Amino acid sequence: MKETTKLTQLGRDPEANFGVVNMPVYHASTIVWPNLEHFEQLKRDFLTGEKIISYGLHGTPTQFSLEAALAELEGGYDCRLFSTGLAANIISLMTYIKAGDHVLVSDSIYGPVRGFCSSWLPRFGVTADFYDPMIGEGIKAMVKEETRVVLVESPGSITFEVQDIPAIAKVAKENGAVVIMDNTWGTPLNFKPFEHGVNVSVQALTKYVIGHSDAMLGAVTCDEEYWPQLKKAASEFGQHAAPDDTYLAQRGLRTMDVRLKRHEQNAYQLAEYLQTVPEVETILHPGLPGCPGHEIWQRDFTGACGLFSITLKSVSREGVAAMVDDMKLFGFGASWGGYESLICVYDENTPRTVTKWPSEKWVIRLHAGLEDVDDLIADLEAGFERMRIHK
Ligand SMILES: *Cc1c(COP(=O)(O)O)cnc(C)c1O
Repeated sequence: MKETTKLTQLGRDPEANFGVVNMPVYHASTIVWPNLEHFEQLKRDFLTGEKIISYGLHGTPTQFSLEAALAELEGGYDCRLFSTGLAANIISLMTYIKAGDHVLVSDSIYGPVRGFCSSWLPRFGVTADFYDPMIGEGIKAMVKEETRVVLVESPGSITFEVQDIPAIAKVAKENGAVVIMDNTWGTPLNFKPFEHGVNVSVQALTKYVIGHSDAMLGAVTCDEEYWPQLKKAASEFGQHAAPDDTYLAQRGLRTMDVRLKRHEQNAYQLAEYLQTVPEVETILHPGLPGCPGHEIWQRDFTGACGLFSITLKSVSREGVAAMVDDMKLFGFGASWGGYESLICVYDENTPRTVTKWPSEKWVIRLHAGLEDVDDLIADLEAGFERMRIHK
């Protein structure tokens, strides 16, 4: 089966559900057991790491079916859903570390993950060092005997550095460290983490899988070696994916391929227009030359999505405000992956420790939605006109 076909087939079973096309939504906390023998068998099965229906927390067919679909699409062994993408990131990190360990974290990592590493890891006696996302095999020099985890995110979701994951994964493996990747930008369609040496792949399903800006969910897919620990930790940390939100993610999955292609195409057309705008200094889009790691993206990825950034030449705060405050189609907001276009503003105070901010000041992140691209370009054009008045 080709991948686009898989998106329509995986994780549903009409025959087992009275012919109903989609996987039903089970709402459950209590599961009642028929007898003592069944209960005793459940307890034995639970210890084997098998997925069983024993209590709402651990999942029902609603969650299991999406987990199986995601694991297959990513090419991993198995998958567990989490309440949010952030929870998926944090608990996957916590799963593989203990007091005395050291972790390496990309300087371009998703901000709240960076915040967690800085504020919480020291409390547990774990040290973290940030590294340049473009480090590649040079990461060897930063690995310590106690390095247990390398966190990668490729590309970074504000500054878009594409990481040399195979090179980093090779060094990590030689030193017995786990590679945990945030694969939200790539999605399982455009980047295959397990073919590139990743052990644990995290996705914010909140973005392109759900795709409609109306629910939050995360997922962690592991290779066989790292799966049992993750599965156990997810339940021990009390993680549960809400059934209705899981249903929305299942539904989003069916159309993700066509949506992504349109997001991708609109983003390239916006980028083409932005190249003609005098205020634009650089375009940080992995699919375009000029983005750090563009060649790596060409080698390792099969496509792009709708999210990229631009940096601006010396523009005043008033100029930026005049643009973003009055956009008609681009909403001013964080998150991304929904059907609608978004604009977000970052400046040089965005936390970084070992790499330079790519601009003197402003980085504007754009999410190309599914609107007609001519309307989007007109909205940006009008925005730059307003910006010019306040130069
Ligand atoms: C949004 C995002 C997350 C967090 O996902 P939530 O579901 O919003 O918690 C993690 N990583 C990346 C790259 C993101 O963009």
